[in-house]
Amino acid sequence: MRIVLVGPPGAGKGTQAAYLAKNLSIPHISTGDLFRANISQGTDLGKRARAFMDAGQLVPDEVTIGMAKDRMAQPDAVGGFLLDGFPRNVGQAEALDGMLRDEGVALDAVLDLEVPEDEVVKRIAGRRICRNDSAHVFHVTYNPPKTEGVCDVCGGELYQRDDDSEETVRTRLEVYHTQTEPIIDYYRTQGLVVTISALGKVTEVTDRAMEALEKSEG
Ligand SMILES: [Zn+2]
Repeated sequence: MRIVLVGPPGAGKGTQAAYLAKNLSIPHISTGDLFRANISQGTDLGKRARAFMDAGQLVPDEVTIGMAKDRMAQPDAVGGFLLDGFPRNVGQAEALDGMLRDEGVALDAVLDLEVPEDEVVKRIAGRRICRNDSAHVFHVTYNPPKTEGVCDVCGGELYQRDDDSEETVRTRLEVYHTQTEPIIDYYRTQGLVVTISALGKVTEVTDRAMEALEKSEG
């Protein structure tokens, strides 16, 4: 299957993408991984991306599109893939359509993870990270440490990342609404959008997604 996963920050998109890709035996292609791989391997696209990032500028679509194109041409992605973070605007979606058309293939579904906005803010703004190890993650409501402000694992101090502040989350949501949500409408005209609720346990959401994808295949 060829799938695009979309959803606002805080929808648990990365986690779902990993589970779904495993269940469907297709590679999980995330924009974050594409950037890291191209930069660490020193590809031309990686160097170009790096220059923009170092200058504090957004990486232009053509660079991101180039990386996605290279990755989708790898043998493991020929039979299908799950895209996470790409396309992130209508221009990139049109470019992706063009790439697939050139290969004589098409997307099977666009899986849209839906979370109420207040829930997104609650999920992200409640996150607390350990100063000793960023893998020690807690949540003031959903996964509170035994002692407030103290890591259960190592006793380190817990803090809120700047990225996770309510103000930053609201800004990220605004960017999502203006830039990424229009691709849902774009794909809706192609009859590809499958919307599911991203509320509940991780495994429940994965089951819901698998069921919805099976139905969409008819
Ligand atoms: Zn810790």
